[in-house]
Amino acid sequence: MTRPETRAIHHAQPPDPATGAVIPPIHLTTTYERDIDGAYPREFKYTRNMNPNRAALESVIAELEGGFGAAAFASGSVATMMLLQALRPGDHVIAPDDLYYGIRLIMQDVLMPWGLRVTFVDATDLDAVRAAVTPDTKLILSESPSNPLLQVTDIAGVAQIAQEAGALYMCDNTIGTPVLQQPLQLGADFVIHSTTKYIGGHHDILGGVVVAREDGEMWQRVQMLQAIGGAVPSPFECWLALRGVQTMSYRVRAQADHALKLAQYLADHPNVEKVRYPGLPDHPNHDVARRQMAGFGGLLSVQVVGDEARAMDVIAKMQVFTRATSFGGTHSLIEHRASMEHDGTTTPRNLLRVSVGLEHIDDLIEDFARALA
Ligand SMILES: *Cc1c(COP(=O)(O)O)cnc(C)c1O
Repeated sequence: MTRPETRAIHHAQPPDPATGAVIPPIHLTTTYERDIDGAYPREFKYTRNMNPNRAALESVIAELEGGFGAAAFASGSVATMMLLQALRPGDHVIAPDDLYYGIRLIMQDVLMPWGLRVTFVDATDLDAVRAAVTPDTKLILSESPSNPLLQVTDIAGVAQIAQEAGALYMCDNTIGTPVLQQPLQLGADFVIHSTTKYIGGHHDILGGVVVAREDGEMWQRVQMLQAIGGAVPSPFECWLALRGVQTMSYRVRAQADHALKLAQYLADHPNVEKVRYPGLPDHPNHDVARRQMAGFGGLLSVQVVGDEARAMDVIAKMQVFTRATSFGGTHSLIEHRASMEHDGTTTPRNLLRVSVGLEHIDDLIEDFARALA
């Protein structure tokens, strides 16, 4: 049994049998030839159903998460939406109150009017999750660490509540990544990722994936929605995502290492009110994070002393960090989060979300030192 770093490069990625190409070709074809007798001996029929680039990506992500299978989608948002649409009107879902804001909009504007019933709770409070269970609860969602508040949910604890309730449990592992956290091993039934972030890793693709721990009705419905709806990434995007997977372990570990150093620096800075990073001992969920994570990730949030104007003033002075949304890639990014989110967001107005990229850590610290001075 090889190790994850090795499998990320070799699993489902043999040299191309036709040419010996070490790097797989991109199969742009939409359609595949049938045999004289009507059979499809090479399995591929039509690219919405499956194509070689997507098959390889799904296979390696399922492997790295320790899952039964994976389904790749055109975005992280639609990956979650497809999992929720695999439910039926009237079903009840428990979701975290600091859920990624785009998914919250999908719930409020599309799925709740369609008949899904949702209770939002503080997912870090297991008693609150348990109290929200009803006889119709079919799915519990969590996102750990969460975006942008970096709260950490006790994944094994929620998994047990879901199991007792006869419900399924989906954990968004976008920020954790399979390098640092393995929700399926902790009892989750599904993992989702926005592959736009650490899996792609270079700020150049949009994508998502649903990973299932085992076969079952819900998983089959997700695959059915993928095949009949076609909200899938193109072969080129699958190829780029797969290339990202090959270096993910090394990127993510460096980013987590540098994020911890930056968080420690910022926590001691007089012009910083608060740093939210699960790797700091004063983080409210630090013990849970230590138990279930092999590192604390490359994302942190910092609240400056002062108001929104002061936060904007700080990011205006940054020279190495780029003022942009998203995270998980080569470039360090900084963003005033509240003004990106919907009206009525609970994200503090003085909060800056920081994604640590792959630049030298001393350059990142110096950039903050200058901007905060
Ligand atoms: C970005 C993100 C999403 C949405 O993914 P897209 O690829 O942008 O659609 C979902 N969950 C989390 C935690 C994210 O950070």
